[in-house]
Amino acid sequence: MPLPDKALSVDGGCNCGAVRYKVAIPALEDRPPHPLAPAGASVPLPFLVLDHCNDCRRATGSLLPAWLCAPIEMCSVSLVRASSSSLAPKASDREGQPEEQRGPWTPASAVFSPAPSDANHFLRSYESSHERWRWFCSRCGTSIAYTAVMPEGFPNMLDITMGSIDRGHLESDALVPERHLWWDYGVDWIRRLATKGYGDLPIHPDYRIAETVTLQRPG
Ligand SMILES: [Zn+2]
Repeated sequence: MPLPDKALSVDGGCNCGAVRYKVAIPALEDRPPHPLAPAGASVPLPFLVLDHCNDCRRATGSLLPAWLCAPIEMCSVSLVRASSSSLAPKASDREGQPEEQRGPWTPASAVFSPAPSDANHFLRSYESSHERWRWFCSRCGTSIAYTAVMPEGFPNMLDITMGSIDRGHLESDALVPERHLWWDYGVDWIRRLATKGYGDLPIHPDYRIAETVTLQRPG
C-alpha cells in the first residue's frame, strides 16, 4: 500500500533511546521518482518494502526485514551523547530526553557516513560488503539503517528498518510495505508466510499457550 499523498513525519529510534530519527516526507507532488521504476509507472520515494535477501535477514536478525527507503535529505537524527550514558536507558526516556543530553537534531547525511569509533554517541556502522554499511546502536544493539554508495542517477538513500519506527506510526496504516524485493533469494516457507499466512498454526494472545485466539476468516 503506497504512502498517503499528504506530507507526513515519521519518527523512530533504537530500543534504548540513544538513537532517534525523523523522516520528513513531503506531499506526493514533491517526492522524487524512483529512478528504476518501469516505464510509465510512477513510484515515488520514499517507498516501503519487504526484503527477502539473505544479507539483510541476517544483519537485522529478522526473518523478513521491512525497510522504509528514504532519500537521506528527508532524514534527521538526534543522538544521546555517550558521555551522558550514565542515564539509565528507560523506555519512558526514549522520546523525552532533554536536548543537551540527547544532542541536537542533525541532518542524517552528516551522521550516516562511516563514523569514527571514538564518536561521542552510540550510532555505529560496519561495512557489510563493498561500499555498503549497516547502522546500529552500540548500546542496545538495535539495527537502525542501511546505506550504500548509490548508482548513477539515484539519490543518496537511508534505508530504515521498519521495526525501529515508533508503534503509533505503524498502527496508523500509513506505513505498510508495498512490494517484495529480492523474491528470488527468499526462503520458501517465509515467502509463503508473507503472502498467504501459514495455515492453521495455533495463535496465542501472549506467552500463555493454554489460551488461543480464533480468527474470523474471510468467506
Ligand atoms: Zn539503543
